[in-house]
Amino acid sequence: MLNSKKILIGGLINKPGSSKEYKTGTWRTLCPVWDEKKCIHCLQCVQFCPENCIPVKNNKRLKTNLDYCKGCGICSQVCPIKIIKMLKLI
Ligand code: SF4
Ligand code: SF4
Repeated sequence: MLNSKKILIGGLINKPGSSKEYKTGTWRTLCPVWDEKKCIHCLQCVQFCPENCIPVKNNKRLKTNLDYCKGCGICSQVCPIKIIKMLKLI
């Protein structure tokens, strides 16, 4: 895992494909809790997630990849039926 001591000055990215090393889930103070049974799979949350951490298979969203979810709550805001609750972690 990448730690802050390994981040280059200015956040310089010196090789392609390094985004997988940045596990933004470690920033999270809120966790999205998704009610799978009520989901209508409109995929709004998927489109708006800035971390692209909500996987999709056969046109249905799957569980959030919490390694990369930074807890911003955008998915919760855009969900038309409000079935993503942001749970406080601290
Ligand atoms: S809280 Fe933010 S980063 Fe996490 S799944 Fe929702 S939109 Fe994506
Ligand atoms: S926005 Fe809400 S209803 Fe649509 S796929 Fe995401 S969780 Fe399901």
